Amino acid sequence: MNISIIGTGYVGLVSAACFAKLGNNVICLDIDEEKVKKINNSIPPIYEKNLEKILRENKNRIKATTDYKNTIEKTEITFICVGTPSNKDGSIDLSYVKKVSEQIGKYLKNKKKYHVVVVKSTVLPGTTQNIVLPIIEKNSGKKAGKDFGLGMNPEFLREGVAINDFLNPDRVVNGSYDEKTKKILKEIYKDFSCPIMETSLNAAEMIKYASNCFLAAKISYINEIGNMCKKLGIDTYDVAEGMGLDKRINRSFLNAGIGWGGSCFPKDTKALRAWAEKQKITSKMIDSTIKVNEKQPLQLITLLKKHIPKLENKKITVLGLSFKPETDDIRDTRAMPIINQLKKEKAQIKAYDPKATKNFKKIHPDIKYYENANDAIKDAEAVLITTEWDEFKKIDFSGKLVIDGRRLKNAEKTAETYEGVCW
Ligand code: NAD
Repeated sequence: MNISIIGTGYVGLVSAACFAKLGNNVICLDIDEEKVKKINNSIPPIYEKNLEKILRENKNRIKATTDYKNTIEKTEITFICVGTPSNKDGSIDLSYVKKVSEQIGKYLKNKKKYHVVVVKSTVLPGTTQNIVLPIIEKNSGKKAGKDFGLGMNPEFLREGVAINDFLNPDRVVNGSYDEKTKKILKEIYKDFSCPIMETSLNAAEMIKYASNCFLAAKISYINEIGNMCKKLGIDTYDVAEGMGLDKRINRSFLNAGIGWGGSCFPKDTKALRAWAEKQKITSKMIDSTIKVNEKQPLQLITLLKKHIPKLENKKITVLGLSFKPETDDIRDTRAMPIINQLKKEKAQIKAYDPKATKNFKKIHPDIKYYENANDAIKDAEAVLITTEWDEFKKIDFSGKLVIDGRRLKNAEKTAETYEGVCW
C-alpha cells in the first residue's frame, strides 16, 4: 500500500519505518527540513533502538518531503502523527492537528480517488469527528464517508522499545467513520497477530486516554504506597511482587520510584482532566494521579537533605536526564524538577546521561555535563539516580552517598550510604 505519514517525530517516524518494513511504500512529510534531509539519508533525527537499521534496510520504500501536493496525490492513506502538546492550563493544543487537517483538505480538493485520513496523534474523544472532519470537508469541498474516509488509530508504543511495540502490540484499535476506512485499516494491519479492535472514532480516542491515565494512576498508586513503606521500613518492591502475583492486578507498572514523565502521561492526564473540568465532570482519580506525581521527584531531595542539610556549594551528581532509559527524550523528565530544586539551593550540579545531554543542555546550559558516569561521580558528595539506564547498573558506587530514585541493585550493594526513595 502507498502510505503517507504527516509529522515524523517518535510516532510518525517509527510508524513510517515499520510500515515500510512490512512492505508498504511510505512518504514522510514534515515541516522541519532538517528532519526531512536526515530521513532521506537514513539518519533518524531521534534516538530509537534499531530505527536507523530499518531506515537503511528500507531506503527504497521510504521518502521524506515537505511537499503536501505530491504526498496526498501519491498515497491512498495518510496518518496524522503530529504532536498534541499541552496549553499552559493543561488543555490539549490542537493547533498542529488543525493545521495539518487544513493542508490535507486543500490538497484533497483536486484528488479524484478516495483518500483515507487517519488520526494517529493522541486526541480527546470527539476531535476526529468534530474538528478534523469539518476542517477537511471545508478545505476540500468534499464529503466524509463519500469522497474521503476518516479513521482514528491510536498509537500505544513506548519510547525506547518503540519498534518492537509497534510491530508486536498488545492490540490494534481501528476507529472508523466509514466502511472503506474500516477495510483499508484492516488490510494495513493484516499481518499483525494481536487482537484488532474495530470501534467508533470516539471510542478509539477514549481507549488511548483511558489506558494512559490508568497506567499513570498505577504508578502514582504504588508511589504513594511506597512513601508509606519507606516510613515503615518495608521494601515496596516486595509489596509490588506480592500484589503483582494477583492476576487482576499484574506486576507491570508497579515499580515505585520518582514518578512518571515523558511525552505522553503528563500531557494526556492533564488534557483529560482539563476536558472533564470543562464539561463539569469530576476527575478526582486523574487529579490525584497528577498531584502525587508532581511531589514524588522532590522526595529525592528530602532524602538527600537528611544527609546533607545545606546543599549550597555541595557537589551533587545527577545520573540520568532522559525521562526513561533508551531514549534521548527529556519531555517532563523527573530529572528536571530535581535539578531545578538543586539549582534553587545553589548546589554544584554535575550531570551525566548516555543520550539526553544535548537536549538537556538547551534548557540548562550552565550545569556541568560529563562524557561518562565515572567522571561525573568522581568527587561528588552525593549521587542522585534519576533514570535506570543499563550502564548505571554496572557502576561501583564505593565510598559514595547514593540517593536512588530507580532501584539500582548495584548501588544498594556498593554505595557507602544508600537511600532508596520508596524502599
Ligand atoms: P513529536 O513532537 O516527536 O513529533 C511531531 C512531528 O510533527 C515533528 O517532527 C514536527 O516537526 C511535525 N510537525 C508539526 N507540525 C507539522 C505540520 N504542520 N506538518 C507536518 N509536520 C508537522 O511527537 P510524537 O512524540 O511523535 O507524538 C505525536 C503524537 O503521538 C502525539 O499526539 C502523542 O501524544 C502521540 N503519542 C506519542 C507517543 C510517544 O511515545 N512519543 C506514544 C503514543 C502516542
